[in-house]
Amino acid sequence: MLHERHRIRDKGVDEIFASSDVSVVLPKYAMPEKEQDPRHTYQLVADELMLDGNSRQNLATFCQTWLEPEVHALMDLTMDKNMVDKDEYPRTAELEERCVHMLADLWNSPATENSIGTSTTGSSEAAMLGGMALLWNWRARRRAEGKPTDRPNLVTGPVQVCWHKFTRYWDVEHREIPMEGDRLIMTPEEVLKRVDENTIGVVPTLGVTFTGDFEPVEDVHRALDRLQSETGLDLPMHVDGASGAFLAPFTAPHLTWDFRLPRVKSINASGHKFGLSPLSVGWIVWRSKEDLPEELVFDVNYLGGNMPTFALNFSRPGGQIAVQYYNFSRLGREGYRKIHQQCYDIAMYLAEEIDRLGPFEILSNGDPHKGIPAISWKLKEGVDHGFTLFDLAVGLRAKGWKVPAYTMPANREDMAVQRILVRHGFSRDLASLLMNDYRDALSHFDRHPIVHPLTEAEAGGFCH
Ligand SMILES: *Cc1c(COP(=O)(O)O)cnc(C)c1O
Repeated sequence: MLHERHRIRDKGVDEIFASSDVSVVLPKYAMPEKEQDPRHTYQLVADELMLDGNSRQNLATFCQTWLEPEVHALMDLTMDKNMVDKDEYPRTAELEERCVHMLADLWNSPATENSIGTSTTGSSEAAMLGGMALLWNWRARRRAEGKPTDRPNLVTGPVQVCWHKFTRYWDVEHREIPMEGDRLIMTPEEVLKRVDENTIGVVPTLGVTFTGDFEPVEDVHRALDRLQSETGLDLPMHVDGASGAFLAPFTAPHLTWDFRLPRVKSINASGHKFGLSPLSVGWIVWRSKEDLPEELVFDVNYLGGNMPTFALNFSRPGGQIAVQYYNFSRLGREGYRKIHQQCYDIAMYLAEEIDRLGPFEILSNGDPHKGIPAISWKLKEGVDHGFTLFDLAVGLRAKGWKVPAYTMPANREDMAVQRILVRHGFSRDLASLLMNDYRDALSHFDRHPIVHPLTEAEAGGFCH
């Protein structure tokens, strides 16, 4: 093929943008009849993708947007490996097992050899698996007591949509603690108001989506201990550590939220967020094999021993697992700590800068003991600012930055916030360039007062 291209080039007809197949638009709704030169089609598809914008300026996403060259190389090397084919690719399966054990260790499992877990496509799949284990265990307990199993409920704080999916898909009543006033997360008191004998589990989030805050796992745990001593009700917990489970072990090691707490039966985390792996890897680890109901696990015996598999998907790329293992080995605890601490330092710098501008009240400031390296803020109340956070979000879009503005979920739909997530690859220098653009957007509003400040609905898909 290369030889063929050289031949064509020699004839002087290989200028991509002047070629006849590039002089027309790409097909949109039906597959074309004829094949095309791969280089030409590649150029057009790559150019269309360029219009997505620059992912590293997307400060809304929690997912990795900067990856080491070695990660790109490993991904290329593993593109043909299907991780579900454990007899075909036993080394990939082995790397997955090692990652599970390293995570069990990182999350202070009392007996890592007895812990069990799996990779997933992300925290969403991991949450489904964790929720199913809670549901099956609750049913088994109820049946053993001769009690009905038709009214299961799950208690959470204001959660990511994956838990809404779990409760709807599996027909579980969702008792989601709404935000009230200045309380934007779960508290022990609010949990106790909602739990009963039909509660399959309590799910605190380590790094709430809307603000980045850690929910008080240990305080909730203590409240559930008290509840048990008073009523006999023994409730399990699952921690949604999508972001936090890859942060707190390194940057807040004394925060007790993990398997050090006996009620914590399982933990999920997103490898592709602060696990620093490329898109499409998550993890779930159970405290012990007893916490994962056997009926949910399908045993595959290809490897001589037993390879338990528990997943919603079947075929999946093995590269994300290989890279997760690469990251654990290459960075170690030291590397993760340095990278994440840098993100927190930059978040705290941004929080100070935004606070100094005047019109804003900081809600989360990037304190590693309180949340993830994200900052969120709102406009000070009781003042007519002449603009909204939605105007600011749209203004920053003009410079390529995506700094989302959105309203809170129930019961604070009245409150709009803006949020920045600081990730690996967002340097102190980029942060200062962002602040220049933020100040420019504000002074633009001074010079050209806005007649009709944008609402969330009017800003449409522009802001998040
Ligand atoms: C991102 C996130 C999820 C969903 O995770 P994916 O890896 O995107 O599937 C769930 N819970 C929380 C708290 C999150 O931040």
